[in-house]
Amino acid sequence: MSTSRKNVSRTKAFPSANSVATRPFVYSTGRARNGVRDLLCDRVKLARLVQEYGTPLYVYSATNIRQRVGLFAEAFKGIPTTLCYSVKANSNLSILRLLNEMGTGFDIVSGGELERVRQVARPALRRVVFSGVGKTAGEIDAVLAANILLFNVESAAELDLLEQRARHMRRVAPVAVRVNPDVFAETHPYISTGLREHKFGVDMASASGLYRRAARSKSLDPVGISVHIGSQIRTAEPFGQALRRVLELVQELRCGQGIDVQYIDAGGGVGISYQLDEPGASDPRSAVLAYAAAVRGALTGFAGQLLLEPGRFVVAQAGALIAQVLYRKQNGSKTFLVTDAAMNDLIRPALYQAHHSILPLRQSGGDQTSVVDVVGPVCETGDFFARDRELPDLRAGDCLALLDAGAYGMSLSSNYNSRPRAAEVLVEGAGHRLIRRRETIRDLLATEKSLL
Ligand SMILES: *Cc1c(COP(=O)(O)O)cnc(C)c1O
Repeated sequence: MSTSRKNVSRTKAFPSANSVATRPFVYSTGRARNGVRDLLCDRVKLARLVQEYGTPLYVYSATNIRQRVGLFAEAFKGIPTTLCYSVKANSNLSILRLLNEMGTGFDIVSGGELERVRQVARPALRRVVFSGVGKTAGEIDAVLAANILLFNVESAAELDLLEQRARHMRRVAPVAVRVNPDVFAETHPYISTGLREHKFGVDMASASGLYRRAARSKSLDPVGISVHIGSQIRTAEPFGQALRRVLELVQELRCGQGIDVQYIDAGGGVGISYQLDEPGASDPRSAVLAYAAAVRGALTGFAGQLLLEPGRFVVAQAGALIAQVLYRKQNGSKTFLVTDAAMNDLIRPALYQAHHSILPLRQSGGDQTSVVDVVGPVCETGDFFARDRELPDLRAGDCLALLDAGAYGMSLSSNYNSRPRAAEVLVEGAGHRLIRRRETIRDLLATEKSLL
């Protein structure tokens, strides 16, 4: 989504915003066979995908992802905005391609993510912003050569290195200082980034010094300012608060130093509901509208280009991780469902005590329920998906879907316990395609040597 650019015209029509469902995973309606209903992604039976591709399996809905981008386009209509999707949330090439088709830009945090964007579409490089507290000289060189939109610089030392590399390459680096606005946002401590004691950004007081230095350099062009206060933030107010501080600095830079900031990068962080029926939960559209109201309100009077870096909000609810129950076992008073997916496939519960709603792939009306722990086979007590969860009685061979796993699921997966990583499938309407084949043990061993 890039409302200031001509290429919007080749953007596929946005799905009607009135029909925006929170999730694409719903049970089949109409007459159920033997009282059994199948869980679908769009119009595809997940049980069918399991038959074809096996488990563990990540499944995403292209429609849901398109709708999310459409919501931003709708909410920010009338102000020049580029949505730079945060690649780290889900970096699958087919998903990046889908977003590129909609005209989005990309927020990258490594040389690897740069290569992903390059593979998807070279022209998209002009809509890339490069974030991260630890950019290496090698990464900076590669990104300088790629002619991106903006470097989000996070320290004085990084600004020095960027200047040195740009001078060496005879280039001018477009720079934004990522400021740390010292704003508190209610979220998990591991994904809160906007307080002074966090490693991210530069405090407001030191930022103008960096702009002064950048303005004096022939190799640096201070054209932007960026802020990102954290992830999974469910209220709009902290975003407004951060941006009001940012705009103050922008005005100060213009009046005090004659530096004209053209880009305000508002970062990502818009949260989602991980609960199936959260009381009072806002629907995705209201969430984006509230966010946009806070952002637009805070930036009244700013005449430049707004950049947004959502990741989770765009892809989280489009995806689910499908797992099969291997064993049902009883230890004392506890019942465990041991699945073939594990923390190496989806680490959010172990890392952030995150809640993922769980739905069986087949639902029959008269299902008995029981309270169970859903766990993986990895040798860690932290390897669980749910604790003391009431679920319909599932037995070995049954499959379940861990919902809202489209963001920070596959992208945070690993090979711990020498487990090959899951396959990924993209569903659109009644069709589906494999967008990442299942890893093999041979893939895992390919980079290693066994020396005697
Ligand atoms: C991770 C990250 C994002 C995306 O955050 P979400 O919560 O997924 O929207 C955006 N910008 C920066 C700098 C990030 O580090």
